Amino acid sequence: MDLSTLTIHEAHERLKNRDFSAGELTQTLLKRIEEVEPKVKAYIIVTSEKALKEAEQADMIIAAGKIAPLTGIPLAIKDVLCTEGITTTCGSKILSNFVPVYDATVVRNLKRAGAITLGKANMDEFAMGSSTENSSFGHSHNPWDLSAIPGGSSGGSAAAVAADECIASLGTDTGGSIRQPASCCGVVGLKPTYGRVSRFGLIAFGSSLDQVGPLTKDVRDAALLMNVLAGYDPQDSTSVNKEVPDYTTFLKPDLKEITIGVAREYFIEGIDPEVEKAVREALNVLQSLGAKTVDIALPHTEYALPVYYLIAPAEASSNLARYDGVKYGFRTEKDENLTAMYKKTRSEGFGAEVKRRIMLGTYALSAGYYDAYYGKASQVRTLIRRDFEEAFKKCDVIVTPTTPTPAFKIGEKVDDPLQMYLSDIFTIPANLAGNPGISVPCGLTGNGLPIGLQVISGPFEEGKVLQTAFAYEQNTEWHVKKPKF
Ligand code: GLN
Repeated sequence: MDLSTLTIHEAHERLKNRDFSAGELTQTLLKRIEEVEPKVKAYIIVTSEKALKEAEQADMIIAAGKIAPLTGIPLAIKDVLCTEGITTTCGSKILSNFVPVYDATVVRNLKRAGAITLGKANMDEFAMGSSTENSSFGHSHNPWDLSAIPGGSSGGSAAAVAADECIASLGTDTGGSIRQPASCCGVVGLKPTYGRVSRFGLIAFGSSLDQVGPLTKDVRDAALLMNVLAGYDPQDSTSVNKEVPDYTTFLKPDLKEITIGVAREYFIEGIDPEVEKAVREALNVLQSLGAKTVDIALPHTEYALPVYYLIAPAEASSNLARYDGVKYGFRTEKDENLTAMYKKTRSEGFGAEVKRRIMLGTYALSAGYYDAYYGKASQVRTLIRRDFEEAFKKCDVIVTPTTPTPAFKIGEKVDDPLQMYLSDIFTIPANLAGNPGISVPCGLTGNGLPIGLQVISGPFEEGKVLQTAFAYEQNTEWHVKKPKF
């Protein structure tokens, strides 16, 4: 058996039995990366030497009989998360030479748990995008069809899991960036509740929306990673001080206590018929496992996209003001005076999509427009959150398609930002409301592209999301299918 295909829990059992060492497992993955990276391009940087050193330490821990669920497990980290001593580019030229002096809290937690970092995964610049085509370091490819996008912005993280270039990975999700690429690449992706996971050391995009979460080969692995990622962090004032359950206790095979809400707002015109069919079939499977279904209404869903494209760029324009060529990162070569230096650094350092967002956001926040745009968007955001609160009085989880279409071709939407933005129409509402959501594989199109099923719950009810996704997964075969490339 090829060790690179193992899940976290499978690798853990076999490391515990000493079937192989963490060193051997890491070497196998590094070899796999060498073989397939020319086709997939999931990584910005692979840190082989560091990984092998971490594996040695893991083997010592295992030899001492102190193995924990993540000891010796090789992972990929989205390049938006600070890693001490390893460049952290955020997919941008402006941070191409940035080497953080500290680890993000989530990275530190993973290290403490014994996990190994294989490298930094490719992403859309500053996590703005749905296809990983906005990276300053070239785009990644979908292992199911190398001419298709892997989704974004965590496209490298999803492609690396799908191509067995890591056992699992970390991504971030501001408007869908974990769930949408997970759906495109046929893997599992969980966006936790806003505040559940620390964002200290996460390079900020939309601060009221961003969350870190796992991309994995199955639902059990997502629960195992959440056990280590979740929790209060005094260094992140938005993290919530609330007890972290053992997420694996929610992995039960049936759904007798679960009521599923189905919202017509998520089965709209324009949705690909193969996607709709797969999701309707998945609902039948869920019912056969004991779940009840009810119709619910989320009437403000149609405003989610415009609200997001005011709030996210507004917050981004403020967060990205710090990249000026002075403190750290890229600086233009010719600089006649300070103002010219700022301008040139930013003109040369940022890509087109990031500039578009900075302009949109600055406009929405400017004097005289603030109330009409950012202020109004914030009010409508409250209505979207209330929709969910009302809905969750009638159901435990809401099931929807993750994306309206399967992965599209590389280059197909680069000149049409609005079409690109529509990829996230089903994932954005959960970010605006702060709710957790998962995407699990639920089908393949006639062309062999993965389809994703999204399960959303109320805040801090990741357990219900995991339970529903797990029961579905255990009774279907989609998660074990592998791309051939
Ligand atoms: N695709 C969306 C955007 O471009 C979401 C990105 C994300 O979740 N980071 O903003």
